[in-house]
Amino acid sequence: MFILSSPSGAGKTTIARRLLDEDGKIAMSVSVTTRQPRPGEVDGKDYQFVDQPTFQRMVDDGEMLEWAEVFGNNYGTPKAHIKAGLKAGQDFLFDIDWQGTQQLYQRMETDVVRVFLLPPSIDALEGRLRNRNTDSDTVIDGRMARARSEISHWDGYDFVVVNDNIDECFGKVKTILEAERMRRARQTGLVDFTRGLMR
Ligand code: 5GP
Repeated sequence: MFILSSPSGAGKTTIARRLLDEDGKIAMSVSVTTRQPRPGEVDGKDYQFVDQPTFQRMVDDGEMLEWAEVFGNNYGTPKAHIKAGLKAGQDFLFDIDWQGTQQLYQRMETDVVRVFLLPPSIDALEGRLRNRNTDSDTVIDGRMARARSEISHWDGYDFVVVNDNIDECFGKVKTILEAERMRRARQTGLVDFTRGLMR
């Protein structure tokens, strides 16, 4: 379970997309959310969009691996698909916030890798948020306040990568993924493999 968290505007979506494109062995964990779809977002691909009663029912029925309220909307990871995938050896990429990261870590410590992306500076982050759309100063100020609050949770992660160059940042994130896969405890079949080598 490879978790990528960051304040919005730090390049997380770009890094996640590239990882999914270039690494054939990792699949995106598609979250459930009560927030409204943004233009271009596809139900079932970007998120599973549900209403509040449906979300609550899923929580009550124990269908969520983790869930949290993030800036007024609910987000959660449906359990069944992930558990079955993990059992079959599938790696998953999670774009979740620090609260979900904590919950996953508490549940499955040894199976979780936590990566936090940071912008090179607060000005760079504000620049990215401003360039992205034509929102008013009040909206931008709100986003910056959220970003600062997300950044305050940097110390709950195993790896912190500063994104001052998207290609370099991507390379570093990929290196983390590859190194974590080589951990002895994560490699199945080593007993037989090494036995074969020693014959
Ligand atoms: P957005 O609404 O911009 O897509 O996402 C807002 C925030 O919610 C992001 O920080 C994202 O990482 C987080 N998020 C998305 N899905 C989940 C989820 O399933 N669980 C948790 N805890 N956070 C999520």
